[in-house]
Amino acid sequence: MILNSISPIEKEPLHWVDLPTPIPGPKEILVKVSACGICHTELDEIEGRLQPDLPIILGHEIVGRVEVLGCGVTKFAQGDRVGIAWIHSACGGCQFCNEGNENLCREFKGTGCHAHGGYAQYTVVSEDFAYPIPQRFSDSEAAPLLCAGAIGYRDLRLSGIKRGQTLGLFGFGASAHIVIQMATYLGCEVFVFTRSEEHRNLAGKLGASWAGSPEDEAPKKLLCAIDFTPVGETVPIALRALEKGGRLVMAVIRKRNPIPSMEYAQLLWDEKEIKSVANITRKDAHEFLSLAAEIPIIPEVQEFRLAEANQALILLKQGKIQGAGVLRMPD
Ligand SMILES: [Zn+2]
Ligand SMILES: [Zn+2]
Repeated sequence: MILNSISPIEKEPLHWVDLPTPIPGPKEILVKVSACGICHTELDEIEGRLQPDLPIILGHEIVGRVEVLGCGVTKFAQGDRVGIAWIHSACGGCQFCNEGNENLCREFKGTGCHAHGGYAQYTVVSEDFAYPIPQRFSDSEAAPLLCAGAIGYRDLRLSGIKRGQTLGLFGFGASAHIVIQMATYLGCEVFVFTRSEEHRNLAGKLGASWAGSPEDEAPKKLLCAIDFTPVGETVPIALRALEKGGRLVMAVIRKRNPIPSMEYAQLLWDEKEIKSVANITRKDAHEFLSLAAEIPIIPEVQEFRLAEANQALILLKQGKIQGAGVLRMPD
């Protein structure tokens, strides 16, 4: 399913085309994709808030099996199950890469943005940027772990939350429903803010101490908050709910609309912090996959056929997907 030009998703801009199977270069593997998660980032690419290299095959939550090894591959064998995440490559030599911040590398390439991704039966990736998938997950369950989960892990890590502290989650989609499972496992008290009653019910089932709508006041102030929503209005709402010295982590790559101007004294003073999250590192993906298997985190998934990618993304935009959306590839 290829994207040729920027367009509102409602116009169904992803097109089914037949392409030759890609050939892996040195140190690369050809992966036969079985499942690929869908993500808000795809909406940002399709609708032009991010600039993908067009034409592009989207998708960066890929699970499949190694089909062909490029020359010099040593980490995987044919038939191995692997995952591919948003980080497709980084230069490996700059200051950011050397300090473990390859997510900030200027040469950073995103899967399904600067290199073809997983909305396809086959894809190619460097063996250094593929991950073994723990056995306890099915292909569909593993797919959302690779973005929603791995980025959620980074969000939680950057929030600085500690055992016993209060955490607020604004928006309760694919990533948040994984973060809540990590946070409760780590002994945090979690408060969920979402307009969707279905999402509030799911939050309750997954261990939220309280779930309400964004305008509601939670029973406690939040030491940390993570904003998963694509809209700017959430930022002042979340800051208002923060405790003094609290930190707000903004999890999305782009907001659909600007953050409203804010009253400094009420919303930012008292040493409140705002931090954004950019991309992930391979370390995030590795650490998260093993933590997810240990807890375990089994994501709730809603499956679609690859040919239904446009419709699945429209539902995602409307906030109508329960848990995480996953595309299944035809054989
Ligand atoms: Zn994503
Ligand atoms: Zn670099």
